[in-house]
Amino acid sequence: MKQMYAALGVSEEVFEYGERVLKELEGRFRAVDAVAEYNQAKVIAAMQKNRVGAACFAATTGYGYDDVGRDNLERVYADTFHTEAALVRPQITCGTHALTVALSANLLPGDELLSPVGRPYDTLEEVIGIRESKCSLKEYGVTYRQADLKPDGTFDYDAIRAAVNEKTKLATIQRSKGYATRPTFSVAQIGELISFLKSIKPDIICMVDNCYGEFVETVEPSDVGADMVVGSLIKNPGGGLAPIGGYICGKKEFVDRCAYRLSAPGLGQEVGANLGLMPAFYQGFFLAPTVVSGALKGAIFAANLYERLGFRVVPNGSEPRHDIIQAVELGSREGMIAFCKGIQSAAPVDSFADPMPWAMPGYEDEVIMAAGAFVQGSSIELSADGPIRPPYAVYFQGGLTWYHAKLGILLSLQKMVEAGLARLPENK
Ligand SMILES: *Cc1c(COP(=O)(O)O)cnc(C)c1O
Repeated sequence: MKQMYAALGVSEEVFEYGERVLKELEGRFRAVDAVAEYNQAKVIAAMQKNRVGAACFAATTGYGYDDVGRDNLERVYADTFHTEAALVRPQITCGTHALTVALSANLLPGDELLSPVGRPYDTLEEVIGIRESKCSLKEYGVTYRQADLKPDGTFDYDAIRAAVNEKTKLATIQRSKGYATRPTFSVAQIGELISFLKSIKPDIICMVDNCYGEFVETVEPSDVGADMVVGSLIKNPGGGLAPIGGYICGKKEFVDRCAYRLSAPGLGQEVGANLGLMPAFYQGFFLAPTVVSGALKGAIFAANLYERLGFRVVPNGSEPRHDIIQAVELGSREGMIAFCKGIQSAAPVDSFADPMPWAMPGYEDEVIMAAGAFVQGSSIELSADGPIRPPYAVYFQGGLTWYHAKLGILLSLQKMVEAGLARLPENK
């Protein structure tokens, strides 16, 4: 094994340090496997209930009327998330698009959007109009208010109560920390927040940005009162196989509006050919619980590996997990580059590429991204990225298999050690 890792560029010292860290994680890994087993059963049950068969895998083109595979996939998603309806489409191009559809379909001029969890994900700033942008919700007369989290990362219920008013129509709750170093919320915490919001204003629509959270726990935000859950198929629920797509699951009245916004008023869910993507969507969803478990093991391993070397990691090495993202604060631009080079050099695809900081559409700061993915930009595949700004945190996620995640993490440390940016503990 050591020789194999050496051939891939991992020194004996780094490998053995990794093995020592891993020995202590056996209990954690067993717990991750148990969640995956539960979620695997949940997905299989939804597929069986909806009689998934070969006819579901046929390609459609053109308008896509009476698309059996597409319609049934949406029932499978709805049953897995325990919602009345679902919109799962290749025409939803990414997570930001899915969130934009959900927001712009359900907010009308004069309505107000509330984020009770502080600043939203970078790309949402332009969607909302926090940063001026063409076609933002702000341009269409939708106002925005946010209640920041308390310094310890918990909900500021007083600030939330003060922010809710007669115009407040929809609350957007981001489950994952995204590019911030606040904690990711558990589904139970999200449930408490939703109950609180509904106690102040019963008809407020609660939408959860579920990106990176799917299948990390045995329950989803839709099990605790969310009216809509939204995410990307090139993250968790695509299982690494979906080459594009997004989903919105939730109450029928809200999902219907999303479908009208996505296609056209009057057409809604009836149109949208599947373009031959159904096999990848079904099979990816089937694999997603296991893929997520591999990614989670990678995140837990990375946290423990780096924490012991003195780096701040969020979540820390022992905290429970509510998404697949691991932030590692590397303290410098050079650290971010070395880490990302390691992840890149572990990839099955584009391992020869050299990640560099770059300006990216939708992001305010320069961003560095390491990804050697079969699906371009897929972040359920092993990837690391982060905006070049203090505290110079790299957000590490994914890995279609645990072994690939392990290799990537070991190589990231290898590059850090070689650059003199990390020092291994004495081998005792
Ligand atoms: C990735 C992500 C998004 C945006 O998804 P894209 O597919 O990159 O557009 C939104 N919110 C969160 C929390 C995310 O992690």
